[in-house]
Amino acid sequence: MQHAKFKQLGAVMIISAAFAFSAQAQDKKPNVVVIGTGGTIAGAGASSVNTAAYQSAVVPVDKIIAAVPEISKIANVRGEQIFQIGSESFNDERLLKLGKRVSELLKQSDVDGIVITHGTDTIEETAYFLNLVLKSEKPVVVVGSMRPGTALGADGALNLYDAVLVAGSKEAAGKGTLVVMNDEIHSGRDVTKSNNSFKVETFRSPYGPLGYVVENKLMFYRLPARPHTTQTEFDIDQINSLPRVDIAYNYGNVSRAAYDAFVNAGAKAIIHDGTGNGSVAEQIVPVLQEVRSKGVQVIRATRTGSGVVIRNGEQPDDKYDWVVTDDQNAQKARILAELALTKTNDTKELQKIMWKY
Ligand code: ASP
Repeated sequence: MQHAKFKQLGAVMIISAAFAFSAQAQDKKPNVVVIGTGGTIAGAGASSVNTAAYQSAVVPVDKIIAAVPEISKIANVRGEQIFQIGSESFNDERLLKLGKRVSELLKQSDVDGIVITHGTDTIEETAYFLNLVLKSEKPVVVVGSMRPGTALGADGALNLYDAVLVAGSKEAAGKGTLVVMNDEIHSGRDVTKSNNSFKVETFRSPYGPLGYVVENKLMFYRLPARPHTTQTEFDIDQINSLPRVDIAYNYGNVSRAAYDAFVNAGAKAIIHDGTGNGSVAEQIVPVLQEVRSKGVQVIRATRTGSGVVIRNGEQPDDKYDWVVTDDQNAQKARILAELALTKTNDTKELQKIMWKY
């Protein structure tokens, strides 16, 4: 009798412990680290009507987080300031430093996701870079704002809230590095800045965002088709420097000056940001041949802002031993080429990589 009672009590205790555990599990908020790098999301203007003229990269990340107390309801968040810069100053050294820190944090079992506050100018390059080199399925979200926090209609608070929500979610895992802005979730591979100074709807992806984030709800509608993070051959932990790759912008009357300067500066590849289908002006064809004969890779991209550069289309790439981009714009092609050149200097291999990612 006594024994049966104990058994009963034991069962009740186990059941209530299980309930307590599941309630605790349900309440358990994800741990998200917010890494501050600067940008307009850390900006401040002289008055509330300054939506486009202001100083960027002045507000510390902890202050940016504290300005959105709602975040504490959805995640346990801690801030870490790695830089305080305008993202136009994101050089390769900083990219590597950021990538390595993110990688370190992703390995910690008490970190569920990462948010990086970033200037909007080069968010697309950093996000593509991280998308290619991080070796984790945990969500990494890059976020910025178009208006400083001091402006009427500032967009940073909601963007940050949404970014933390996405970074702490299970749904965002395994989808590569994401950019969350203006209620949209974009793939770091595709996203690009399309308006220079003030429109909050400036970020676009040629094939549309992956989804939306609205009122605490993530809605995904598509998945990235290209390999990313754990599926790539690039590992941030193995990369300590990046080879120099430059971009030569094209226009009528373009001269050889930029190409010569880049070769002399030690470029290992030049992205020829050509008109139309990565076209090459008649006076530049021999220049690019000369560049290639010096061992520097020539990669044709298009300055049009969208579309695919067709190999052997405008120019006989096979004959000249040149490479073409896929649909990457010149700035994304530069990131990928730098990573590719850490693996190979073979033109055919380089071409495969440009088409793969
Ligand atoms: N120049 C700023 C930056 O990229 C612009 C911005 O954040 O919107 O850091």
